[in-house]
Amino acid sequence: MIRFAAMAAAAAGLLSGFALAAERPNILFIMSDDHAYQAMSCYGSNRNQTPNLDRLAKEGMRFDRAFVTNSICGPSRAVILTGKYSHLNGFARNGQTFNGRQQTVAKLLQKAGYQTAVIGKWHLGSDPTGFDHWHILIGQGPYYNPPMLMPEGRVNHTGYTTDIITDLTLDWLKEKRDPEKPFFLVYQHKAPHRDWQPAPRHLDKYDDATIPEPETLFDDYSGRTRAAKMQKMTVAEHLTDRDLKLITPGNLKEDQEAAWRAAYEPKNEAFQAADLKGKDLVRWKYQRYVKDYLRCVDAVDENVGRVLDYLDQSGLAKNTVVFYTSDQGWYLGEHGWYDKRWMYEESFRTPLLVRWPSHTQPGSTSDAMVLNLDFAQTFLDIAGAEQPDDMQGRSLKPILAGQTPDDWRDSVYYHYYEFPGAHSVQKHLGVRTDRYKLIHFYELDEWELFDLEKDPHELQSVYDDPAYADVVKEMKAELERLQEKYQDDGTVVQFENPTSKKKRSDK
Ligand code: CA
Repeated sequence: MIRFAAMAAAAAGLLSGFALAAERPNILFIMSDDHAYQAMSCYGSNRNQTPNLDRLAKEGMRFDRAFVTNSICGPSRAVILTGKYSHLNGFARNGQTFNGRQQTVAKLLQKAGYQTAVIGKWHLGSDPTGFDHWHILIGQGPYYNPPMLMPEGRVNHTGYTTDIITDLTLDWLKEKRDPEKPFFLVYQHKAPHRDWQPAPRHLDKYDDATIPEPETLFDDYSGRTRAAKMQKMTVAEHLTDRDLKLITPGNLKEDQEAAWRAAYEPKNEAFQAADLKGKDLVRWKYQRYVKDYLRCVDAVDENVGRVLDYLDQSGLAKNTVVFYTSDQGWYLGEHGWYDKRWMYEESFRTPLLVRWPSHTQPGSTSDAMVLNLDFAQTFLDIAGAEQPDDMQGRSLKPILAGQTPDDWRDSVYYHYYEFPGAHSVQKHLGVRTDRYKLIHFYELDEWELFDLEKDPHELQSVYDDPAYADVVKEMKAELERLQEKYQDDGTVVQFENPTSKKKRSDK
């Protein structure tokens, strides 16, 4: 009798579980690559308009203090999948291989009854695990005519990559989705990553415009440690002819190449004739670089709009939580730079918009300090699934309902590892609070402290200023507390045989 009751209860539980499954929200996670919040009109951009991304801000929540734990492509993706800092997920710098055998949010959602798919940029070395469907770029992937990978092997595509990734995403939503299950769809662009190759339809956009320069374009780094002077990522010195479109990319089809030559050759001839020097040359490079970057953003914006339109038309919008973020922030000439990596605000922060009809107040904003580390647990919370104890973030669900918990974090821990490496940014770690930021370039053993209220552009470290001696002491104590909390003793976990890549005859 007792056994029967237990079985009946279990059956009822199962049934209500299924009923619940039908109502559980879909999750659409949209991530672009290197998209600066400074290039989104909903974040107040003075450079461009992003009407489709702005729809998400108008209909959902804009996060004004969303940060990443390690500002670089692959590591950010690994943090998002695992809900763990780089030293615990083992993927601390680009070029490593993600251990796809470890726990990921995709696997947990799959177990919880979600249909899972990833389309677009992946960039983790190993094959995706925990996804029912995947169709990914190989490594970084080109802007035009990308070969892509599926479990079955390589597929060649012709066209502009941002459009193709969206076509594949729409095809999955329309044709491959299981309507009996909620979905977790990861839709990831490679744009606007370097080397900023626009779509043919955008090649002459902004030709007649002058894009505003940031205040710190001619930063001389005099207020910071040696690290800021040792980098190789300045607009002035480090953009290549390929970056600047002084040479035509090599992988274009005939019609694509004709469009490029028609767009750039007259501009390049005018540039050569002008024979610019000094600051005038830097200003020209800035315009050329930022315009191409914004053109790439335009294609992302248009394509996100296509997906949002489909969600509306299909009726999926009302039960789909849509995230838009970037794998990190980016310098649009601030500090004289392009690229990312630093714990300074432009690359440490990342855009984050979340639209959740019926849960999130349209047009709301949050200045809670949130992290890409929080996404995994947020997805699980949305799905009503258990959050494993070894994940290190915290669900954003209450914040999305307009109720930031009283004990929400008031400091954020950061650790960047990729040195020696591209752009020569020293390894560093640090802590940011509401007002201060302490950074330790530990291989140089040099420290910086910024008073973000007085110095929002982070131009003058006050680490050695006696007036800040107590702040330095408090921030160092907070840094130690966070290192203990997140179990960062400086070593990155090494997995044995981390690759889950299938042997394929193709490459
Ligand atoms: Ca990136």
